[in-house]
Order: sequence, then C-alpha cells, then structure tokens
Amino acid sequence: MRQAGAVSDERVVAIWRNGAAQRSAGDEPVISAFDLGLGRGDGVFESVFVSGGGTPHLADHLARLHRSAELLELADPGEETWRELVDAVVGAWPVDRAGVCRLFLTRGLGDGHPPTALALLSPVPAEVLRQRAQGLSVVTLSLGVPAAFRAEAPWLLGGAKTLSYAVNMAAQRHAHRLGADDVVFTSLEGQLLEGPTSTVVWSAGGTLHTPPLDTGILAGTTSARLFTRAAEAGRPTSVTAGTVADLHAADAVWLLSGVRGAATVHTIDGVARGDAGLSQGVRALLAQ
Ligand code: PLP
Repeated sequence: MRQAGAVSDERVVAIWRNGAAQRSAGDEPVISAFDLGLGRGDGVFESVFVSGGGTPHLADHLARLHRSAELLELADPGEETWRELVDAVVGAWPVDRAGVCRLFLTRGLGDGHPPTALALLSPVPAEVLRQRAQGLSVVTLSLGVPAAFRAEAPWLLGGAKTLSYAVNMAAQRHAHRLGADDVVFTSLEGQLLEGPTSTVVWSAGGTLHTPPLDTGILAGTTSARLFTRAAEAGRPTSVTAGTVADLHAADAVWLLSGVRGAATVHTIDGVARGDAGLSQGVRALLAQ
C-alpha cells in the first residue's frame, strides 16, 4: 500500500486546509468536484523550477502570483502560506532531482468560501529536457487580438497567469500537427507576443530584445532575470515591438521559462536558423 506523502508515484501534493499544509500522494483526490478552478478555470497558477532541494526563484513567482490574483480579484492567502505549501512538497522530494512545483490558487467553492491553495511537485517532462539540450522549432500563430487591445480590456486578463490555458495548449497541439515543437503568438497586426508557456527573446546587433508587457503578455520571471543580469554585465537590452521578420533577421532567438531555461529556437515557420554561438552566454547569465 502507498504511504500518504510518499514520492512513489513521482508526484506529491500539498493543500492548504484548516490553517496548515496537508500533504498527500499525487493521485489522491484533494479538491471538491465543485471547485470553480475545475468548472471555470477560475484561478491562477505558477510553475516554479525545483533544483538542489530548493526553489531559487520562488520570490519572483510569488510576486507574480499575487499580481495575477489581484487581476482576478482573488484573495491571495499570502507568502507564508505558499512557502509552507512549497516546503511540504519539496521536503518529500529527492534533493538531487529537478522538478516542477505548480502552485494553484482557485476561487474554491465561490461566495463566502475560502479560495483553494495547493502545491504539486512532479518531474521535469522529458520533452522539456530535450528542448533545453537540443533547441526547438516554432510556428508563428496569430492570437487574433490587436497588440494594444488588452491594455484597455481588463476582462481579458492580460498579464495574469490564469488557469485558463486551454487555448495555449491547443496552440501547442496545433504546432505539433504542423510538425513543430512550439508556438510564438503574434498580435492581429503581426507584432510578436509570447509563447504559450514562454517569453520570446532575440538577439540582434549585440542587443537582447523582448516584446513589451503592455501587449498583455505575461511578465516572464526568467526574461526579467536575464535582462537584469545582462544589463549588469554591460550588455544592451531593449523592450522592442518586433515582428516575425525581426526573428528571421535576428542573430539568435530563444524561448524562456523557469523550467525550460533559455531554449534555442532552431527553426521558425519551417526556416532553419542558427544562434551565432550566443546561447551558451545567455545560459551562463541565467545560471549566475
Ligand atoms: N509566458 C507565458 C504565457 C507563460 O506561461 C510562461 C511560463 O510560465 C512564461 C511566459 C515564462 O515565465 P517564467 O519565465 O516566469 O517561467
């Protein structure tokens, strides 16, 4: 029989209940079928990279989770709660094993009920490890929204990392059907936005570029870290409203996320491209 809290199934969960983090095995039911996170995707989440038995960038993710919760008018149970939940799952995880810790905050059962807060820890998917090592191919797909629209449309929840990722997942499946690994979303006018689970960064003429946040994209914690460290190292950075043509003309293109790191894009819309030997330097900046 499996022991509660054991890592035997390679996943571990902790839910906030009665003022404490309660751990359970990964496949045990922990939330109500009536939870609005399930029925409506009404909630927010974070994916935090776990390495060496710790979460080196947790504070950045908790800050973003707080912003996402504000955008959805959801009560954030606060940093202490999240840290207890993270400690509960990371404490049951082998120190030498990398993982992904997902933090979920949902509207719970709705009016008058507390939100649902839980953490779940699972292995880094093999495909993510492959893309980190070998790079990836992308297709560009339109999100169908003008670049300036989401800044004026708070109901579209631009900038929030919501649980409603069905469109993002469908875009990735569409890319797979086209023979590509992932997607770069563009606005209605063809301006670069982001990947379904990543930030787009490109290097041109020695400057690192990434699209502006007022397009409604998510503020990536990894790209923010890269840009801070690049600036500290005296390397120019720029927030740029680029197009797909800029990606084709760039010296190198990456998709960034906490779990994937900086994955080199080796093909865009079927056109092969190089990285001018820049990926190693970018990864070294992130690893500092
Ligand atoms: N953009 C989207 C839509 C994402 O889902 C993610 C990753 O979760 C990112 C960007 C990259 O964010 P981070 O670097 O904080 O992992």
